[in-house]
Formats: sequence, structure tokens, C-alpha cells
Amino acid sequence: MPSPTDPIAEAAAAPFLTASESEVARVLQICNACRYCEGYCAVFPAMTRHLAFDKAEIHHLANLCHNCGACLHACQYAPPHDFGVNVPRAMAEVRVATYRDYAWPPAFGRLYARAGLTVALALAGGLALFLLLVLAIGGGFTHEGGDGNFYAVFPHDFLASFFGVVFLAAVFALAMGVGRFWRRVSPSVGAEADDRSAIARARGPAVVEAVTDVATLRHLGGGHGEGCNEEDDRFTPARRYFHHLTAYGFLLCLASTSVATLYHYLLGLEAPYAWTSLPVILGTLGGIGLVIGPAGLLWLNLRRDPAQGDPAQRPMDRGFIALLLAVSLTGLALLVLRETRAMPVWLALHLGAVTALFLTMPYGKFAHGFFRAAALLKHTIEKRLPNRLDLGGD
Ligand code: SF4
Ligand code: SF4
Repeated sequence: MPSPTDPIAEAAAAPFLTASESEVARVLQICNACRYCEGYCAVFPAMTRHLAFDKAEIHHLANLCHNCGACLHACQYAPPHDFGVNVPRAMAEVRVATYRDYAWPPAFGRLYARAGLTVALALAGGLALFLLLVLAIGGGFTHEGGDGNFYAVFPHDFLASFFGVVFLAAVFALAMGVGRFWRRVSPSVGAEADDRSAIARARGPAVVEAVTDVATLRHLGGGHGEGCNEEDDRFTPARRYFHHLTAYGFLLCLASTSVATLYHYLLGLEAPYAWTSLPVILGTLGGIGLVIGPAGLLWLNLRRDPAQGDPAQRPMDRGFIALLLAVSLTGLALLVLRETRAMPVWLALHLGAVTALFLTMPYGKFAHGFFRAAALLKHTIEKRLPNRLDLGGD
């Protein structure tokens, strides 16, 4: 009896393709004969290593696709052609199913996939309301101090332990989910002895290449450097730029919190910190990036040609963007208003948004970066292995 949490055992138990996986297999068979789009992204060179596509390979290719839309606008077999080839939509439908199916614990993934925007906003609002109630009961609804001291409202140890637990739980759940995905798609699964040693040799340089590709978002350049398609067949680098602002904005905010923690525990320097201090500079720059990036992504999402993706996923996409904006806007408002009587309210709103973001991290759009990084790593390993088919491509 296979373990219900072992994706490899699950594959053996359920080898048949779902309807959306069958659609990916069908369009890839056509693409494999056509190959017009080979230069756009990593999906097409990876595809040429196969003549048939099993569940694991379909999951891999679906996560290698970043939904740029180029192969839809370029395709002579796209609807209304009888072949009805729409690679971005087919990939998007499988991709969201992988987030849900590999999520850990599985029930949480299914919940979030159904109502992303509603769940995200309700969670952030509910948590903020809870914190406001705690404040109201404790009589701390307004802060008289005017010194920007958050810990006069919520004790430092409470915040550190609460957010430490929530963050670590989210990271653990995300790691479990991506780990389940990796065990299903890993190049080592089913590899012969020769290939295993080639994989071991390829791993180091493949990791370097994959990390570089992720850090520079190379594939969002579209293979020609001009970017993705959005509302029509024109290329634009906007999505790449907004992704950079979002990702590095988030990392700068994380760095700000980490530096503040080191200040507190290692150097004995307690908040509030001056505007010119490292935690505040990092947090301000990160917050600005985390406003401009998600706002730009929302703008692109609203204008996007609906044929390029799966419209059913919009609540998940917009829920994630809304949470990022809620975190950054409340964070910046808190910084600006930290020396006013309204500080506790903004602190509660900000903490509610941050907690909701952490709690939903493993079950929605946030996870796409990690699934895609794993898919890229498989690709950068495999491109260093001999192509047994030897049909061209790589
Ligand atoms: S998407 Fe269309 S044009 Fe591109 S490789 Fe596939 S069949 Fe050919
Ligand atoms: S939508 Fe873009 S990333 Fe996805 S397969 Fe087509 S060209 Fe590649």
C-alpha cells in the first residue's frame, strides 16, 4: 500500500493522465513536430528530449513554462485552427494543479486554490481584527508615547516568537511541497547507472546556472531579450522588471527584519531605529519595491490577453498581489505614522497582512517561484546529459 504522502508511489498508483495533463501531452506532440518556438524559453528544448510525455514530465514542463504567451501569439495552430494549440493555457491548468496536489498538508492547498483572493483578504482582515481586539481589550488602542516603540504595544518576545513560529511553519510546509514535487520530477528518478554518475557531475554547474537564471529572471526576457507578451503580440520587458522589484523588495524587507533581529539580540540595540539606520533603510527600499512591483503586476494582470493563461487562476494571482500590496502599504504607513497616536492600529493592520502572507505562502502564487526554480534545476541538469533521442534541439 503506497504512502499517501509519497508522490512517486502515488504516480505508480495513479498512472493515468488527467484531462488537463492529456491536453499538455497532446499539444506537446504537435509542438515536437513543429518546433517553431524553440528559441522562446526552456520548455521547447526540454520537450525535444522526449517523444512521449508521462505525468512527471508534464508536471516538470508545466512548471518550466512561465506563461509568457509568446508561443500562443506565434502559433499557426492556435485557435481557431482545428488543432487548437494553446500551450500557455494548457501549461497553466496543469501548473496550478501541481501546486495543489504537491502542497503539504494537501487539504490546505485545495482550500486556497478555490478562493485565493477571498481567502487572502479575509485572512489578513481577520487577523488584523483579532489584533485590534486584543489591543482594545488591553486599552492600548492609541499610543501616547509618540516614540515609535512598537514593543510598547506588542511585547518584543511575543512578536519574535509568534512570527518566528508562523514563518518557520510556512517555510517547512513550502519545503515539503517543493520536495514532493522534486521527488516526482527529479532526473535521478528511474535513471540508469551511467546517467546517475553524469547527473552527479552535472549537479554543481547546473545549480549555478539555475540560480543565475532565477536571480536574473533570464527566461522572462523571452529568449530574445525583448520580454513577454501581455495584452497582444508585442513584446515588453515590463513583467520582468515588476518581478524584479517584487522579489528584491520582498528580500530587502526580509533583510531589514533579520538585521533588526541581530541588532536586538547580538548588539543589544533596541527599536525604534532612526531613519538612517540599516533596518529602516532596507525596509523602506524594500517596501517601495514591494509597492511598485505588485502594483505593476496587477496592472499587467488586468490588461493581459485572457487567452494566454487560465482565467480561473486570476483569484489566486490577484489574492497574492493584494496580500503583497497590503504588507508593503501598511508597512510604509506604519513607518511614516509610527510616532503618532494611530501607530497601534497600523501595527495591527501590518501584522495581520504579514501573518496572512506567511500562512498562505505554501498554498498559492508565492510557491510558483520555488516550483519553477526546481523545474529549472532539472532542466539545467538534463541539458548536460546526452540526449538519447539525438533529434536536435539543445
Ligand atoms: S506553439 Fe505552435 S508554433 Fe510553437 S512549436 Fe507549438 S505548434 Fe509550433
Ligand atoms: S508560454 Fe512562454 S514560457 Fe510558456 S511554453 Fe510558451 S513560450 Fe514557453
